[in-house]
Amino acid sequence: MEGPSSLNDHLLLLQVIFSACELGVFDLLLGAPGPLSARHVAHELRTSVDGMERLLDALVGMEVLEVEPAEGTGEGEEPAEGTGEGEEPAEGTGEEEEPAEGTGDDTYIYNNHHVSFCREGRNQNEKTFGLQPEDPFQAVYRSEEEMLKFMGLMDSSWILDGHDIATAFDLSCFQKIVDLGGCTGALAREMAKAYPSSSVSVLDLPTVVDAAKKYFSRENDDVVFHSGDFFLGDVPPADLYVLARIVHDWPEEKCLSLLRKLHDTCRPGGGVLLVEAMLLETRRGPLMAQIFSLNMLVQMEGRERPPSGYTRLLNDAGFHDVQVCRTGKSYDAILAVR
Ligand code: SAM
Repeated sequence: MEGPSSLNDHLLLLQVIFSACELGVFDLLLGAPGPLSARHVAHELRTSVDGMERLLDALVGMEVLEVEPAEGTGEGEEPAEGTGEGEEPAEGTGEEEEPAEGTGDDTYIYNNHHVSFCREGRNQNEKTFGLQPEDPFQAVYRSEEEMLKFMGLMDSSWILDGHDIATAFDLSCFQKIVDLGGCTGALAREMAKAYPSSSVSVLDLPTVVDAAKKYFSRENDDVVFHSGDFFLGDVPPADLYVLARIVHDWPEEKCLSLLRKLHDTCRPGGGVLLVEAMLLETRRGPLMAQIFSLNMLVQMEGRERPPSGYTRLLNDAGFHDVQVCRTGKSYDAILAVR
């Protein structure tokens, strides 16, 4: 098992096991005459299929359960989940201390609702905060303190992975780079460092841009900030749009409409760079991508995807020549051009 490195990561994993216990997953599997499919488990335990699939995927990634491909299923088809023989989750082997996204104090609030999100198959922001589930950032930014905590967490990821992402592909042909939902500008700064002859800017929600300028600016900052909403209205013109940890937040149709907008806005030869923790095609790992995917259902409206999922989205939006780079770190890069 690869992956968990911080105390928060380990607590997240424990929470997944507790949720599975509370839902009765282990009792059901132990009492079954053979392996059961995720769909079957969801049906028996009256949960959403999507929520149960993500929970079981994470348990397989943690080596608590084993998976057996159902007879006649090819790769990528839904496998049957098998029972682990009371195995203990293996010790983590991560070498770098890196926080998982969404593992601030919020994790514990949200994780109290792991069981209900699994049953209902969507985030529990209404139950937890009385806020609309389809606008998850209302919950993330429910107070300035929470917003700054989240922004700090986002910022810290790129200290470790930013350079690998910026250089995953040679992006020097893109003169004007806009990081949509670029938050504190941490990744944009890595882009500006790697491509000094390109101009790099960030677009984010007005309150986030104000906080980024107030609390996260750097001396001689060469990153420019724009306030706006990438779903509403126009986005600034660019040769390359960066969407780092954006697509995984939103449901398919919202991602598609945003990507189509970018396709219509950029010139031929322009591109889009997605940055996400990519699942394996089999969805059997990496563990932290499985956990992020579970978290995207707990807190957001989205999911992590394997390379084929991003390729399909990008192709459907009109982009082509999709290239995928697994960086070997927590986040990977996917480049496509118009
Ligand atoms: N890209 C940054 C990174 O990887 O560190 C931040 C990723 S964070 C998961 C999502 C970002 O999208 C947040 O900064 C959030 O404020 C921004 N965001 C959410 N909805 C937005 C919208 N409608 N328009 C612009 N930005 C938005």
